[in-house]
Amino acid sequence: MELYTGIQNLTIMNCGLRSIQPRAFSKNPHLHYINLSGNRLTTLSWQLFQHLELSKLIIENNQFTCNCAIRWIQIAYLKNEASLREQNLYCTTRGHKISLHRMNISQCDMPEVSVSHSSLEVHEGDNAVVTCNGSGSPLPDVDWTVSHLHSISTHQTNVNWTNVHSINLTLVNVSGEDNGSNVTCIAENIVGMTKTTVSLNIYYPPRILSLREPVVHLEHCIEFTVRGNPYPILTWYHNNQPLRPVDFIRQEVYKQDTLMEGCLLFNKPTHYYNGNYTLIARNKFGIATQTVYAHFLEQPYPENTDYFVSVADLGISPTPPISVTHKPEEDTFGVSIAVGLAAFACVLLVVLFIVINKYGRRSKFGMKGPVAVISGEEDSASPLHHINHGITTPNSLDAGPDTVVIGMTRIPVIENPQYFRQGHNCHKPDTYVQYIKRRDIVLKRELGEGAFGKVFLAECYNLSPTKDKMLVAVKALKDPTLAARKDFQREAELLTNLQHDHIVKFYGVCGDGDPLIMVFEYMKHGDLNKFLRAHGPDAMILVDGQPRQTKGDLGLSQMLHIATQIASGMVYLASQHFVHRDLATRNCLVGANLLVKIGDFGMSRDVYSTDYYRVGGHTMLPIRWMPPESIMYRKFTTESDVWSFGVILWEIFTYGKQPWFQLSNTEVIECITQGRVLERPRVAPKEIYDIMLGCWQREPQLRLNIKEIFKILQALGKASPIYLDILG
Ligand code: AMP
Repeated sequence: MELYTGIQNLTIMNCGLRSIQPRAFSKNPHLHYINLSGNRLTTLSWQLFQHLELSKLIIENNQFTCNCAIRWIQIAYLKNEASLREQNLYCTTRGHKISLHRMNISQCDMPEVSVSHSSLEVHEGDNAVVTCNGSGSPLPDVDWTVSHLHSISTHQTNVNWTNVHSINLTLVNVSGEDNGSNVTCIAENIVGMTKTTVSLNIYYPPRILSLREPVVHLEHCIEFTVRGNPYPILTWYHNNQPLRPVDFIRQEVYKQDTLMEGCLLFNKPTHYYNGNYTLIARNKFGIATQTVYAHFLEQPYPENTDYFVSVADLGISPTPPISVTHKPEEDTFGVSIAVGLAAFACVLLVVLFIVINKYGRRSKFGMKGPVAVISGEEDSASPLHHINHGITTPNSLDAGPDTVVIGMTRIPVIENPQYFRQGHNCHKPDTYVQYIKRRDIVLKRELGEGAFGKVFLAECYNLSPTKDKMLVAVKALKDPTLAARKDFQREAELLTNLQHDHIVKFYGVCGDGDPLIMVFEYMKHGDLNKFLRAHGPDAMILVDGQPRQTKGDLGLSQMLHIATQIASGMVYLASQHFVHRDLATRNCLVGANLLVKIGDFGMSRDVYSTDYYRVGGHTMLPIRWMPPESIMYRKFTTESDVWSFGVILWEIFTYGKQPWFQLSNTEVIECITQGRVLERPRVAPKEIYDIMLGCWQREPQLRLNIKEIFKILQALGKASPIYLDILG
């Protein structure tokens, strides 16, 4: 059996099989159907099956001897486990065949187990003893499993009483590392196994595991990792002065299993913030301190900082950008120059600020020259066939790297805001993200791959109060950088705050160690784009050239049902003032009974990379789903989400075609910015195409509102198909 590690079904019938060793299936964890009927088995050990999740075990028509060794079958039979009740089970005693349920054997029961403490509270460095008693007949063997403990040396002592088998576990010099772990006591005899666990609650003083120089991602961050039980209280000092929680500094911490990881965040720190930062972590068992030197800026406004200078920013720089000379006799002169230059710099910045506001906003990422505005004249003067499709290189003309030139017009194509979710409208610093233990997640198979990493189907234990385990989809982020960890945390907080019937359920994260994992409800038909393609006329070509498995193409009412559900999710997002910015069928998921939910918040860029337009280095834009104002002016609003919804409708009614599939990315930008819209899909009724056109009004305020769209779709769904103007 060792060779067949993946085997799921096993049938050995009518073969004269006499015995099976108790560990024969130890390498076949996937077995769930076993048929051993019609053999000559006289006994069968429970240990064969203890690690398996059997849906069916067929053992009828064997030659079992009535004794304690098969008592477990009788117990399982009475509980009707693995459908044993349906079988004709019997055993032989003194030459008589009797029904198994009538077997009467004394002193033959499952062991019982009890422990001296259900949870052990102990201080680090102390010793602790916990006792496990196993009783029953036959007297069970009792053992502690402690193998996963990090640093506790243990020894066990056995005491055998007449009808109790006792075993003491001594934990020597316990360490905080093992806080939250369990030790398990197992009692087993010929009838079966019973176990119980003791959780360890180990108190220990704070330890600062790391405190790093600031790194820059979305904001400047001094990263720290602290341990302690109970969680320590953190306080900060800047150059030995208590750090005040002023507006532009905040601390983000996420906690798990007495590990606190976090960031002291600074928003656009000037050189004023340079200096020593001391972290003091304190709980009732002790105190830990560590200092790091943070160097933010040499001068208040070096050349390559953000062009968006706000008046508030001008106000927070207390020092001019000139250092004062050290010679005392030159002090007055030096200070005058410094003050003069500082005043000049301030005037320059104010002028720059006014100029920026007057001539439009510039690229946040180093674009030079004012942003070009497409005027009606330029549009009409640039017919399609005259247009230059090139993307400018960083040094061509004076366009920045993220600029597309169309004819005479330069369009600043923006960084995808999903990657710059600073101050996102759904981010609440006090969001409570649920943490799930890694050991509660058992991966089953890969479902797909997104920009965050792989997505797996998994079983998750202890998630639902009513079910022992349930199927979930987990997104794993391998070897994350600090930046990715922070994005991950933000994503988790954002998802925790979004709860609706048509938004995929987010259960929580598993953030201890690698990979980082996000746990979602499992939607068994995967993403909507794939689903549409698999249920459309081209399904045969698309599904590996295999003959059609589907029950035919989606019908009108099913398409309406899909669209209505997405609109319902969007009504909710709009009510939360959440702008999605990347609505498309690839970001929706399909579950049982055609249940559709918005399922992705900016993570599917890799698999559908042709749906995105790469500008600059890593930036990917879903231009085919974007309205003109998002392409040209980086404006993303609830109205731009409505535009994308129009494109989703088009995708649904074309069975998942790529919008503008016949055009290149630069051609698509041209078309959209010039006001062309997608054609009516062949199967879309006029009423539906009217909704699409209502979503694609050039002026955002003239577009249909998502609540209206939802109502129209609901009404169309209720109307008989006869009333839908199929021929237009
Ligand atoms: P994503 O990282 O969200 O783009 O996911 C990549 C792929 O994994 C998707 O295209 C889906 O096919 C699959 N997937 C993601 N989330 C789920 C889920 N909750 N249930 C089922 N499949 C999923």
